[in-house]
Amino acid sequence: MAKIQAIRGMNDVLPQDSVVWQYLEAQVKDVLDAYGYSEIRMPVVEYTHLFKRSIGEVTDIVEKEMYTFEDRNNESLTLRPEGTASCVRAAEEHGLLFNQTQRLWYQGPMFRYEKPQKGRYRQFHQIGVEAFGMSGAELDAELILLTARLWKSLGLLEHVTLELNSLGSSEARAHYRQVLVDYLLQFEAQLDEDSKRRLASNPLRILDSKDPNTQDILRQAPMLEDYLDEESKEHFAELCHILDTNGIRYVLNPKLVRGLDYYNRTVFEWTTSSLGAQGTVCAGGRYDGLVAQLGGKSTPGAGFAMGVERLVLMLETLQLVPESARQTLDLYLAAEHKGLQAALISLAEQLRTAIPGLRLRSHCAGLKNINAKAQQAGATLALIVKQNGESLCGTLWQDGSPQEVNAEGFVAAIVAALNKQV
Ligand code: ATP
Ligand code: MG
Repeated sequence: MAKIQAIRGMNDVLPQDSVVWQYLEAQVKDVLDAYGYSEIRMPVVEYTHLFKRSIGEVTDIVEKEMYTFEDRNNESLTLRPEGTASCVRAAEEHGLLFNQTQRLWYQGPMFRYEKPQKGRYRQFHQIGVEAFGMSGAELDAELILLTARLWKSLGLLEHVTLELNSLGSSEARAHYRQVLVDYLLQFEAQLDEDSKRRLASNPLRILDSKDPNTQDILRQAPMLEDYLDEESKEHFAELCHILDTNGIRYVLNPKLVRGLDYYNRTVFEWTTSSLGAQGTVCAGGRYDGLVAQLGGKSTPGAGFAMGVERLVLMLETLQLVPESARQTLDLYLAAEHKGLQAALISLAEQLRTAIPGLRLRSHCAGLKNINAKAQQAGATLALIVKQNGESLCGTLWQDGSPQEVNAEGFVAAIVAALNKQV
């Protein structure tokens, strides 16, 4: 019978890699704590219309990437392709948005039916941040400063670039949209097929078309920044000012529009050239209309999501994972003969109680070359427990060299050796 395999584009994360995920997640958690963000956990499945209404009917995600199915009650459900819509839904549903500000974060799997390749999967993971009730540019700046601090703590700052743009108010965007369509209609026949289609449905997306012909046509196109409303211009200037004051470098990219419909004003992406084609590691922006669009009272919002797989890939490619993150075991414990197995377990329990945080694995099979086994398991120390009359004694291996530990004061000597390590 053929072996059952994982679904294409959905990955297992094996122990050698999960340590890198854990390292990344711990760094993210520290930074989020430093800015006072609270975790929220949402279901991975939602009603399909939540995503249609928020992300937009004519976006790549809704048109061709969603995992949508009917449940046994014939309701249309979708595996979440992103977290913002669910987060807004949850915050609104539980009254977190009324007359208050919120700083929330979440993490977990997202699902998109895309062509799997390096850095692009069908189940992938995001860590997302959403902040509500704050319309000022200082919030946008905070989100960016927070990510910059994270890159710094991971050693990634010099490998990423911040791209920034403002989409203006939704009225300004609608006005620009018409101007852009009028311009592009003159060249309709020369546009690539996707762009032709988007001309009627989502013309702003044409701005990030990769087609060289379309790119040529766009060179003379009217620019979004010339159509921004005054308030959005000021908002954006204030954001740039705060970033400048705090030493954050950025590139203004007037063509950055993002693939989701709900953004207004600030949009940003952190990109890298270390990953080949899938170069965006974190993306977000402001979405002041989204809460109202989903039926709530008008509440400003802004946020971003980072792609965990892409960040893990970066950390591994650039060899930025500290050795200590891969070190998951302090002591590997084995008994010289089977008769000592019960004593071994008691000793292990005693050590775990004596040294909080100790990472100890005890050996459960026949003993052969424990030193090599300990090294394989990544432990700094290995201990073979032996018997001396009624008492225990043993050999402690450290960095490949053995040291005898006498029966007298045995446990205390082991605890002392471990305390140096842990
Ligand atoms: P892309 O342009 O690469 O398709 P996107 O604009 O669709 O990205 P967002 O919806 O903004 O991506 O998601 C935020 C981040 O999540 C991306 O910057 C990326 O790091 C990550 N991401 C998005 N889609 C995938 C995927 N299919 N596999 C892995 N990571 C992804
Ligand atoms: Mg995409």
